Amino acid sequence: MNKKVAFYTLGCKLNFSETSSIGRQFQQAGYDTVAFHDKADVYVINTCSVTDNADKKCRKVVKEALKYSPNAYVTVVGCYAQLKPKEIAEIPGVDMVLGAAEKFNIIEHIDALTKSDKAVIHHSPIDETKQFVPSFSVGDRTRTFLKVQDGCDYSCTFCTIPLARGASRSGTIADIVQQATDIAASGVKEIVLTGVNIGDFGIRNGSREDRFFHLVQALDEIEGIERIRISSIEPNLLSDEIIEFVAQSKRFVPHFHIPLQSGSDKILKLMRRRYKRELYKERVEKIKALMPHCCIGVDVIVGFPGETREDFLDTYNFINSLDISYLHVFTYSERENTIAAQMEGAVPGAHRSDRSKMLHILSDKKRRAFYESQLGSNADVLFESDVKQGYMHGFTKNYVKVRTAYDPLLVNEIQQVTLLEISSEGEVEVAEIASTTALVH
Ligand code: SF4
Repeated sequence: MNKKVAFYTLGCKLNFSETSSIGRQFQQAGYDTVAFHDKADVYVINTCSVTDNADKKCRKVVKEALKYSPNAYVTVVGCYAQLKPKEIAEIPGVDMVLGAAEKFNIIEHIDALTKSDKAVIHHSPIDETKQFVPSFSVGDRTRTFLKVQDGCDYSCTFCTIPLARGASRSGTIADIVQQATDIAASGVKEIVLTGVNIGDFGIRNGSREDRFFHLVQALDEIEGIERIRISSIEPNLLSDEIIEFVAQSKRFVPHFHIPLQSGSDKILKLMRRRYKRELYKERVEKIKALMPHCCIGVDVIVGFPGETREDFLDTYNFINSLDISYLHVFTYSERENTIAAQMEGAVPGAHRSDRSKMLHILSDKKRRAFYESQLGSNADVLFESDVKQGYMHGFTKNYVKVRTAYDPLLVNEIQQVTLLEISSEGEVEVAEIASTTALVH
């Protein structure tokens, strides 16, 4: 009987795409993949360093795995494993820890599967991690996360990602186009381009060989992909040519997620971000001028060291003034080995959480206003396979979330709907042009 492997992924879309790729290596080596709560012979936990309490979460997942399968071999990989291999090796039940470069050779490292009292560590310094390993996720065939870039050469003072993932590096356009073509041939309708800093796409072996815009142009030519979504792009790298191209593309959807982090130039400087807020405003205005229906998501951090109440209100008012659609709010927390953690002016926890609450309310308001602006329009919805209380969900190209009564025939299908109204729960009711009724939320 084949050995069984199960996975647990913490963190971002990049981690999900890499877990999928590691999973395919196990399948090629003759393993069967089972659900985490099934009895597996091997558990692979892909960790994140950005998550709060990474250590606590990792311990919890290890404990959970051993509850299902007490003799299983437990391997921990990912950003946190690169940053804190020794600490992870101390967690009871962990058998092996693999660093950023080693995680893609996991099959070579896993051979004996014998548990011992001491965990084995395979780990090299991050500046030796130069290889780009292509990855993409496979889920329910609706949407695939395709990794096009890894690492980051920026030095934002709050961020541990460059320490955990190393320098910026990418695949070749030819390889990525081939992967996207294969993904499309497998019936997947939407590809989400992922990376750490995807606007910086094109660096190989330390030198620039391509640009993200050229990748966008090449991917747009691929027959068979219905939708391509750019997951997140730094404002200073979101050029006019990219915005103009997306505006006339049939495949790239009108949805941008652009990290702002702060609306105060003083704080942006302390964060060592590579733009001022005026540039951000210009980007939003350019997008909206060409694509008034475009969805724009914004990342923002509250409680960065030195952020006074006035600085926060600056951020709040700035975001409020922008025609954006939703926020992802992060409450700043000190990360070891970052410059920000040494800065003066730590913001008390209560203020951090008050500011977070204010921005969450602003996000709801912005989302509602965006949904309202879309009411009455017709939109294509790609329905997904999840079922919740008899409903299934889907997204329009511009990221309006729709729900409708579950119909298995709609899974992974694109249907045209009319967006009708927003329900009291913040959902928008829509009529499906094909006949049935749906809700958006
Ligand atoms: S751009 Fe800044 S925040 Fe984003 S990964 Fe790079 S260093 Fe971190």
